[in-house]
Amino acid sequence: MAFESLSERLSGVFKRLRGKGKLTEADIKAAMREVRTALLEADVNYKVAKDFIAGVTERAMGQEVMESLTPAQQVIKIVNESLTELMGGNEAARIHIKSKPPTVLMLCGLQGNGKTTHAAKLGKWFLKQGHRPLLVACDIYRPAAIDQLQVVGKQAGVPVFTMGTEKPEIIAKKAIAHAKDYGNDIVILDTAGRLHVDQALMDELGRIKEAVEVDEVLLVVDAMAGQDAVNVAKAFNEAVAVDGIILTKTDGDTRGGAALSVKAVTGKPIKFQGTGEKLDDLEVFHPARMASRILG
Ligand code: GDP
Repeated sequence: MAFESLSERLSGVFKRLRGKGKLTEADIKAAMREVRTALLEADVNYKVAKDFIAGVTERAMGQEVMESLTPAQQVIKIVNESLTELMGGNEAARIHIKSKPPTVLMLCGLQGNGKTTHAAKLGKWFLKQGHRPLLVACDIYRPAAIDQLQVVGKQAGVPVFTMGTEKPEIIAKKAIAHAKDYGNDIVILDTAGRLHVDQALMDELGRIKEAVEVDEVLLVVDAMAGQDAVNVAKAFNEAVAVDGIILTKTDGDTRGGAALSVKAVTGKPIKFQGTGEKLDDLEVFHPARMASRILG
């Protein structure tokens, strides 16, 4: 189960802290060292973990906590709030739907991270909310990718626009004209992936963004990739200016590093999380809920 070892480690630290009654500065410092180790072992980015611990320690050493009747409880509360803040704050980040349709979402990411699956999941999610989404096959390099989008589109009950191996920016342009003609208010572009971050891919995504008005670039990243997921997000964000992240495979045995560091490192919020292989396995990402889940 995801985050299990991090949760276990943290609950161990807090249990010991609770057993102490009144806390000294040394108790808090020792606990924070343990929390830091737990975060690093969960594959949280080094600088993120360091800054996080510095912030929590400063707050925990405050008079209010030290003089409180339940100091351990106060420390846990601070950790909870700080984790929430780290992952984006109390408000879940949403997708802004334009009043003048269509809203165009471009999904990008490395191969195998779950892009095509999540294009269909998002399509289904919007369909359930009364929208009329259109999926667009802009991955022209792998014929299987177009077929796959058609298959998942059909499962989701969402139409799929394809033009074979035409240039992706032309496909995107024609798809948006099609959406306007047919009343599709949300256009979801499924773009090509690569095994590694590569300039040709970034150039291609850039050409799509130049050719059509993309409202949101959503980066699909595999939570199980840990630190790598964060590096990939950073690279995509620098190259194509990402608006939000879809963190996939949070149901797997991810240690939590990506969920905890990606917002801090890129400055971009996680908007959705993928929680399974089925097309209904998509949830709005709530930082506070994730923090509570991690703290058990
Ligand atoms: P793409 O190459 O980025 O388009 O990736 P795909 O959409 O083809 O997904 C790659 C694999 O990951 C497929 O086997 C999906 O079923 C699986 N997958 C996608 N999202 C999730 C998820 O949230 N949880 C799990 N467990 N598997 C997922």
